[in-house]
Amino acid sequence: MKATFTLGRIAGVRVAVNWSVVVIFWLVTVSLAEGRLAHAYPGYSTATYWGLGFAVAVVFVASILAHELAHAVVARRNGIEVEDMTLWMLGGVARLKSEARTPGAELRIAGVGPLTSVLLGILFGLLAGWLGVLAVPGPVVEAVAWLAGINILLALFNSIPAAPLDGGRLLRAALWKFTGNPLRAAVIAAAAGRGFGWLLVIYGFASMLVTGDFSGLWTALIGGFMIAAATAEGQQAQLRGTLAGITVRQVMTPDPVTVPAATTVEQFLAAAPFGHYRHTAFPVVGPDGTPVGLVTAARIDRTPSPQRATTTLGEVMCPIGEAATASPDEPVSDVLPRLEAAGERRVLVLDPAGGRLLGIVSHSDINRAITWLAAARGTARTDDRGEAR
Ligand SMILES: [Zn+2]
Repeated sequence: MKATFTLGRIAGVRVAVNWSVVVIFWLVTVSLAEGRLAHAYPGYSTATYWGLGFAVAVVFVASILAHELAHAVVARRNGIEVEDMTLWMLGGVARLKSEARTPGAELRIAGVGPLTSVLLGILFGLLAGWLGVLAVPGPVVEAVAWLAGINILLALFNSIPAAPLDGGRLLRAALWKFTGNPLRAAVIAAAAGRGFGWLLVIYGFASMLVTGDFSGLWTALIGGFMIAAATAEGQQAQLRGTLAGITVRQVMTPDPVTVPAATTVEQFLAAAPFGHYRHTAFPVVGPDGTPVGLVTAARIDRTPSPQRATTTLGEVMCPIGEAATASPDEPVSDVLPRLEAAGERRVLVLDPAGGRLLGIVSHSDINRAITWLAAARGTARTDDRGEAR
């Protein structure tokens, strides 16, 4: 998901917003101001309708944020850190740093989202009822009632047992508990996600053909997104299955070539890419040899030529605090989401005791491991996806 901007940090978690939220925000404001409120309660000023529409849109986005924060808080309580959180047109995605350890944890983390939305729905419903009794102007009551409805709808949609929705995770947790096999549970939940996605696509196009109304396109689009996301989750599950029991230490490239932070970009480029520096990413080390960051060809590329003689790698690198890191004895399957999320597409492996650099993990390290594991288990085929990736 590209085209996102950072909104800020809540409880230490980066909250990003996809541009599609702006579209939803606008749609909610306009449809309430021009449509629902004006039609149901005519006679108020245009400013009233638009002000209310805008306020409802703000509270709506805040409701989605509350849903995602609930996931994040419960995940953290179950010992899983949250990478970041992105709001987009269908709600939000809280990206976890690792997988739930037990079906129970999965159930709690996934279930709390829809639960939060239901509670918000009930709360807004009660508030609307109370405001109605107080004889508050109709459009205000209508706006609060709309918030109640949309939160219930959000809970219902997210509870559909299809990956990547919360309901898909609940299904996975149940199947995991029932079969004792998290991999098979994930594969089934992904299949359910694909199936539901196709239903939406077919329904969307069919309704467009029958009614001639283009709103079906929206449904089809959501279906298409679900198919893609469920397929990706299924592949991730297969990957985790292949990598089960393998540690970061086993797949990392140990003792990678490093560059001193004080090296200028020009000095570095004089030595790269044919000699000592033949990779596309290098850990950067301080004077005492401790890792301070990661520099990539892309970061060098962004440094304007005239400044390369005076700019050091320490200035252009991705600082260690922002780089993806792992400890050597972590399961490598836990590190995959971090590797996917990392802008530099590398994970630095640090000694948990002293912070010393032990190795680096890139996609090619993972792919090499998968290829060999598949070959060793006799499951490698020429059409194997693991080999092509
Ligand atoms: Zn959710």
